[in-house]
Amino acid sequence: MDRFEPNLRIPGPTALPPSVREAGARQMINHRGPEFAAMLERVISGMKPFFGTTSDVTVLSCAGTGGLEAAIVNMLSPGDRVLGVSIGAFGDRFAKIAGVYGADVTKIEVEWGRAADPAAVREALAAQPGYKAVLLTHNETSTGVMNPIPVLAAAVRDVAPETFILVDAVSSLGAVPFEMDAWGIDVVVTGSQKAWMAAPGLAMVAASPRAWAAMESARMPRFYLDLRAHRDAAANGQTPFTPAIAVVYQVDEGLRLMAAEGAASVYARHEACAAAARTGLQALGFELFADERYASRTVTAARLPEGHDWKAFNGAIKAHGVVLAGGQGKLAGRIFRLGHLGSVTVEEVLGVIAVLETVALEGGRPMTPGSAVGAAWAAAVEALGLASAASTGAGVPA
Ligand code: PLP
Repeated sequence: MDRFEPNLRIPGPTALPPSVREAGARQMINHRGPEFAAMLERVISGMKPFFGTTSDVTVLSCAGTGGLEAAIVNMLSPGDRVLGVSIGAFGDRFAKIAGVYGADVTKIEVEWGRAADPAAVREALAAQPGYKAVLLTHNETSTGVMNPIPVLAAAVRDVAPETFILVDAVSSLGAVPFEMDAWGIDVVVTGSQKAWMAAPGLAMVAASPRAWAAMESARMPRFYLDLRAHRDAAANGQTPFTPAIAVVYQVDEGLRLMAAEGAASVYARHEACAAAARTGLQALGFELFADERYASRTVTAARLPEGHDWKAFNGAIKAHGVVLAGGQGKLAGRIFRLGHLGSVTVEEVLGVIAVLETVALEGGRPMTPGSAVGAAWAAAVEALGLASAASTGAGVPA
């Protein structure tokens, strides 16, 4: 392992824990044999609580976008009316895939940085009844906004109970609580390189019982991504095509680590890292891009001040071993993003804030070293519920 490997803080692919890396280096096995069958079963059953479902979950060997494409082609027929609720680049992509396959897509385009408004979704569905599906993004990675999925889903269910709800949870599932069954969601998609602490290469897609039923009559063309084939093969411990075995090893190990930590602790860690990122960036003088009420718990986007050149800024940060992400699409050069999902600790986020302090000092900006780090640390401690313990002295070993 490289002693000075970078602090990779982009919103996926995420850094891999050592045991996950080692898992990926293991010898191949027969993907039609019992060892693979046992592993696939572990991965699927280990994922289900994170989806919040008891329904079937499939494991596809493809990027997250392949999972989105699977959601579209398995659920819809050409000409179906679809409401694409887009709050950023990935919402645009989901709607675009539906259009490419011949769906009749109406878009609600929300100003980037904001969450979708349940009232607007309700209104759109009521104004033109008969939508086959609504496309929602849980965590819009391009803007750092996390949509209130339960509220949006309840609005859809209320106005248009027959309309399917398809959710892109690529960059959120596994990092924050999700209750697919309880919220009445039909298809949920996630990707191995995000909260699951594994390399890119797998998309996991869950579908509700009524979604599985709808796939029997949906007419969009599909072969590799036919979810029924993946479900049926999984029932025999297999995948229909050769899977990305090394990534399955990694997701298996990632899930083992997540189970050992406990889901509640995984979620609390993400909450604390997000609190540290937001507070630290603000203490450094950056304005956060997302509406604070819907700030993502897996990625924080901050505005680049006027005249701040991203390339030069990024170069200075990288020189200290920290890798952040720039803005996507129309936000290129206007924001930067700090990813805090999957294998991430509060201390790693504090490390980013410390480097940003150093870069500010190098640039001649007056700054008290440690001030932003201290603010970020305090926010994390507060998020973890440790602030009161610290002030009362509770928890200090005798
Ligand atoms: N949806 C969201 C919300 C994402 O963050 C991403 C990737 O960053 C994707 C979809 C696409 O995933 P992939 O790049 O694996 O195709």
